[in-house]
Amino acid sequence: MAEIQVTLPDGSRKSLPAGATGAELARAIGPGLAKAALAIRVNGEVRDLSRALPDGATVSILTDKDPQALDVLRHSSAHVLATAVRQLFPHAKIGFGPPIEDGFYYDFEVPTPFTPEDLEKIEARMREVAAADYPFVREEVDREEAKRRFRDDPLKLERIDDLGPDETISVYTDGPFVDLCRGPHVGSTGRIKHVKLLHAAGAYWRGDERRQMLQRIYGTAWFSKEDLEAYLHRLEEAKKRDHRVLGKQLDLFSIQEDVGPGLIFWHPKGAMLNFQLRRFIEDVILERGYSLVYTPHLTREQLFIRSGHIPLYADNQFPPMSAGEGEAEDVRYRVKPMNCPMHILVYASQQRSYRDLPIRLAEIANVYRNERSGTLHGMLRVRGLSMDDAHVFLREDQIEQEIFHLLDIVDLVLGKTFGLTYRLDLATRPADKLGTDAMWDVAERGLEQALKRRGIPFRLDAGGGAFYGPKIDVKFSDAIGREWQGATIQLDFQLPERFALEYTGADNKPHRPVMIHRAIYGTLERFAGFLIEHFAGAFPLWLSPEQVRVLPIADAQLEAARKTGETLRAAGLRVWVDDRSETLNYKIRDAETHKVPYMAVVGQREADAGTVAVRARGEGKKQVVLPLADFVGKLQDEVRTRALTSLL
Ligand SMILES: [Zn+2]
Ligand SMILES: [Zn+2]
Repeated sequence: MAEIQVTLPDGSRKSLPAGATGAELARAIGPGLAKAALAIRVNGEVRDLSRALPDGATVSILTDKDPQALDVLRHSSAHVLATAVRQLFPHAKIGFGPPIEDGFYYDFEVPTPFTPEDLEKIEARMREVAAADYPFVREEVDREEAKRRFRDDPLKLERIDDLGPDETISVYTDGPFVDLCRGPHVGSTGRIKHVKLLHAAGAYWRGDERRQMLQRIYGTAWFSKEDLEAYLHRLEEAKKRDHRVLGKQLDLFSIQEDVGPGLIFWHPKGAMLNFQLRRFIEDVILERGYSLVYTPHLTREQLFIRSGHIPLYADNQFPPMSAGEGEAEDVRYRVKPMNCPMHILVYASQQRSYRDLPIRLAEIANVYRNERSGTLHGMLRVRGLSMDDAHVFLREDQIEQEIFHLLDIVDLVLGKTFGLTYRLDLATRPADKLGTDAMWDVAERGLEQALKRRGIPFRLDAGGGAFYGPKIDVKFSDAIGREWQGATIQLDFQLPERFALEYTGADNKPHRPVMIHRAIYGTLERFAGFLIEHFAGAFPLWLSPEQVRVLPIADAQLEAARKTGETLRAAGLRVWVDDRSETLNYKIRDAETHKVPYMAVVGQREADAGTVAVRARGEGKKQVVLPLADFVGKLQDEVRTRALTSLL
């Protein structure tokens, strides 16, 4: 009998009878592994255990320890969900059902949306499907057979028509349910033990608002009860921190139907947060060789045609508007979706010498992007963005130094000031790019070398770059372990070329500068949204819209309380004296609800002695009596050092 050989992760080889499957390999290695095996990686591709192994392959068996195993489990859970839905709602048409971060979903075409009671019934049925332990059976079929099997599922038929002529069409069956699917899957439905349906929401077929609305059911699945519970707890935490809820409760911002979706109104308290963030970053960069500029929000469309944003970026731009009074009729205007060409025009407005470089132009500017309304989300995904944008024009030999300079700013702002742990991704050329591969080689190598020479670990995000150049993306984690996209540093050889930018070199000849686009916060909207959720609305003192609330115990101390307020205000602190005729307890509760960092209670004893009884946020009833001057000094220190916790 013929044999095949496979290479195991430790480099050893194993001989098996021809036609042996992944499951048989696992059994040959040991009964423990056979039990734990979920799928197998064959030459880097994750496959079902039931498939025959090719001769000469490098293989590794996936158990629940493998990071990719959760995706397989969740994709299989999506099939179990569809199995249950089809049993309970036999006329439901099926769309897509992929794994996603932390879970999975499946889209169904049904006449009415699913109710919470429906979800409970479906989840109960899923448990029955899991208990039945149906094997996931893979078959390869030809196009005709695929169409025959899915003749009652128009969405699947549409999908089959999209498949290329050479694509292998596979179908998976678990018990009564058949799906058009690439796989891979776990061995059987019995593997799915810790699963929970979360909610249902409308979703357009293929994300296209011109197509029909489907009902998407979201769920999550884990390998252990503990993991599932920890995740559900994290979701609860996230709900409590939702910036849309806190934004309303703390009166930070709103979105108004009269004005439109994705456009943020910063209320006085949110505006203070915005102002402090701006002031901080502007101070940081002005100390580091940047210049501020302010540029128009409207431009002749020609500018974005020259930059290449039209047509490459046109889908994200608002449509053009007609020209201003006195201009030719065919001139059209656009609201700007980004600042790059504007800053380029500032650079190009005069002769530049090699000695002037790098030139760093910064602008916290409002730009407008026509994001799909379905993707908008509070402050996190908006149409009006306040970017903390900057463009650096530099010589090629300055790239590495400038990347170091930028990474220092990133570390100062995100790491040292906000106390965030972050990591870096190096994103390289995408399919639809401008410029030659040779240019991209230089740009990608420039970023990679800078990161390596700095000894900073990074991950490669192949194909994730912007159309004009590769980039370093900074991702950071919040208080409950979710990852956010933050700062970005993008190298660009294209725009200087398109705008024929020059500087005079030491050789007295014209040279072309390189350009770096960079943002540290990203946008103020998104970063503020992040901060609200990260701090759960309890901002550090320097960012808090209201820093101290002064509470007189009774009307007799009103005058003393007002004087205390004046002293604090004169010291540069943001204070409100709560002189409402409410009880002290009511006022304390109100200050707690608004997450004010400090309460300064003024009773007769304090009024007479020139002291305040201080309550710090989160410290409950604990009260410290301090001379007013000491209190002021401590708060000033806490603001100046941008401390993340109370210095009291
Ligand atoms: Zn599938
Ligand atoms: Zn730019």
